[in-house]
Amino acid sequence: MDDVINLLIKKLSKLPTIGPKSATKIAYHLIKMDDNEASELAQDIKTISKKIHPCKICGSFTQEETCKFCNDDERDRTTICVVEEPQDVLTIASSEIYNGIFHVLGGSINPLEGINPSNLNFASLLERIEENNVKEIIIATNPTEEGDTTALYISHILKNNKDIVITRLASGLPIGGDIEGADKLTIARSLRSRNKFS
Ligand SMILES: [Zn+2]
Repeated sequence: MDDVINLLIKKLSKLPTIGPKSATKIAYHLIKMDDNEASELAQDIKTISKKIHPCKICGSFTQEETCKFCNDDERDRTTICVVEEPQDVLTIASSEIYNGIFHVLGGSINPLEGINPSNLNFASLLERIEENNVKEIIIATNPTEEGDTTALYISHILKNNKDIVITRLASGLPIGGDIEGADKLTIARSLRSRNKFS
């Protein structure tokens, strides 16, 4: 029995932001859950891992082949907001002032960890820019060293395309933080006051 608990604690502590202390707390909370509640939670986790996958077009999370943002004809297809991770899409969308489409890179350039431009979704970004006759690229990579490198790379690969304005989310975002963790108001403010990047 103790082994099962230890195994669960070990697995839970692999989740982001969960240290061994929180993992222990969660494990004991789960033990106290009634059977129904516990199996519902297990079922939800199963459903998520089976049914949620990246949108074929933009890479954000969806249950369908393409996501609700790509399917929405009301959205402005000439503006693409480029983010690192699928969860950043929801954060930016929650600001309710952005009406363009999205593109998920799948991370940021980090040569020390072996993540080079060829590992990220730049090729499909270029294809989409061409297809949609894009006028503005809003870079919403995280305000970190890797996010900065990625932003510079985007401006580099688009430097010959004179018809595109490249902007980056402005101040207000904590340096070294991430887009996902930012609140609605901060995202809205940094979208409104986005700066011309190159
Ligand atoms: Zn999509």
